[in-house]
Amino acid sequence: MPQLNNFSIREDKKGIIVDTPYQESIIFLFKDSKPAHNVILPKQEHTPYILIYPDEYSSAKHGFDGIVGRADKTLVFGVKTADCLPVFFISDKIKGVIHAGWRGIAKGIFSEFEKKLRLFKESPENLYIVIGPHICGKCYEVKEDTLSIFLNLSRSEDIDASFIAMKDSKFFIDLAKCTHMILNKIGIKNISILPVCTKEDERFLSRRRGDTSSQISYFLPCY
Ligand SMILES: [Zn+2]
Repeated sequence: MPQLNNFSIREDKKGIIVDTPYQESIIFLFKDSKPAHNVILPKQEHTPYILIYPDEYSSAKHGFDGIVGRADKTLVFGVKTADCLPVFFISDKIKGVIHAGWRGIAKGIFSEFEKKLRLFKESPENLYIVIGPHICGKCYEVKEDTLSIFLNLSRSEDIDASFIAMKDSKFFIDLAKCTHMILNKIGIKNISILPVCTKEDERFLSRRRGDTSSQISYFLPCY
């Protein structure tokens, strides 16, 4: 079974499954698969907001792109993506999901995440992060306006700009690498990135390939 840091990865007909060290698994569904459970999803609008489940979730008056709750094995948090990053986090205390595209990252969704960790009194060293299928740095070409936003971000977050590449006068951003660097800065060390590109792997939907819908990934419930 292939390993990625502390995770084992397997595939079935429905998707790619990652087993975490907490006896909880995450499934990244292929485009034609339907979830077999009722998935608790954020109201995704490319915002930087992460809401606490259940306290803030049901009364939310605006969009939010992340959910955090207690590490209850029956809670089926999930996220919809097609090129953006599906980010899953888990410790023995908390778990949750984040939908991170360039807008959410640029607006500071991971600063919001850090605040939530403090609120839950969870130490970053205790967290495990899994970043699922997303558009890779070789495929994610951006225009100069997005480029300058990320150059500013590298300064404000005090991370180097090695997640930005230039080739044949075109600019490319590796959103997963950028996210990895920001999370490292917060103090999170256990981060695994699935090396699966949604634009290249046609089992997944991709905005850049022209798909308008999204696939779902979620924590497989343990009843
Ligand atoms: Zn790619």
